[in-house]
Amino acid sequence: MPRPILATIHIAALRHNLDCARRAMPDAKTWAVVKANAYGHGIERVFEGLRSADGFALLDLDEAQRLRRLGWRGPILLLEGVFEPRDLELCSRLDLWHTVHCDEQIDMLAAHKTNMAHRVFLKMNSGMNRLGFTPERYRAAWTRLNALPQVDEISLMTHFSDADGARGVSHQLAVFDQVTRDLPGERSLSNSAATLRLGAGAPIESGALATSDWTRPGILLYGSAPDFPQHSSAEWGLQPSMTLASRIIATQAVGTGASVGYGSAFVADKPTLVGVVACGYADGYPRVCPTGTPVLVAGRRTRTLGRVSMDMIAVDLTPLAQAGVPVGFGSEVTLWGRASNGEVLAVDEVAQAAGTLGYELLCALAQRVPVEAD
Ligand SMILES: *Cc1c(COP(=O)(O)O)cnc(C)c1O
Repeated sequence: MPRPILATIHIAALRHNLDCARRAMPDAKTWAVVKANAYGHGIERVFEGLRSADGFALLDLDEAQRLRRLGWRGPILLLEGVFEPRDLELCSRLDLWHTVHCDEQIDMLAAHKTNMAHRVFLKMNSGMNRLGFTPERYRAAWTRLNALPQVDEISLMTHFSDADGARGVSHQLAVFDQVTRDLPGERSLSNSAATLRLGAGAPIESGALATSDWTRPGILLYGSAPDFPQHSSAEWGLQPSMTLASRIIATQAVGTGASVGYGSAFVADKPTLVGVVACGYADGYPRVCPTGTPVLVAGRRTRTLGRVSMDMIAVDLTPLAQAGVPVGFGSEVTLWGRASNGEVLAVDEVAQAAGTLGYELLCALAQRVPVEAD
């Protein structure tokens, strides 16, 4: 028998979460963001759940090719655009739409020989200062692109730095709106946080602009709340798209004063029933999760004990045993996602204990973990 760890990708949850994105902004088309191998889920596995999206957005040409191989004929958008001239050949061949965020990418397009004019998304740096043309230079870039025979339609795009936080998006929206007001073309602005929060009616100026044309939800599709802990995934009505599950492979009944695991980081202050789980940091479970990180055993919430090691975690079975829940060797452990009894442990809660975000945990699922779709 293989080691009992397993990640399960829930196709129905992906479908449900995509519907949530659509309901938030019903007039917009939806780019399902599947970069980083669909946030660690596997592009091939999520495809069935997300194929009702209007398009797929990602970064890697290899991932775009995999989508075409799955039979996807609809739009694909390269969120960082091309990296070198020959990438444009693949864009022509596979009919990929691409972001244009810098002068070098316009130079490459101007030198590109193609019979097929490209659909491009011109990116504005409206304040995040990562990719894009500054507001001052945006219209000149648009004019230059518009004059190229290699370019078909130009869409307008920006990315928010604080859609999930206190600062919000209005400062960026105002800049974008002012510069682009009289330019033709579709708009694409909202990531998951903006889609849910603006869709829920956050009262901001130019809110109508943010809800227009194309949304770009990523993390919400995978059932993680983009603005956790302000809102939980349950509050947004999202369902976990990945369950990481394992089993108890040993138990230890220890007395007061006994320590558990490396560094004796946990010391029992009363007689404690310890369960040892076949999951560790080599599976993608964060080593930094301290004692007290939530975990489900037999679908009941309990906590981790002591340090996470490479292949194992210790969990506290005491409260479950006291409540008469039969737990021991072979009991189901849910590290995040949905237990067989339906109980959910959001990946966001585990991420919070690790001082990070659900994004990082999902993306970091290790190669050695077998994955199934249901
Ligand atoms: C990753 C990404 C998104 C999706 O962001 P989420 O926070 O996961 O919704 C949207 N747009 C761009 C440009 C991105 O890089």
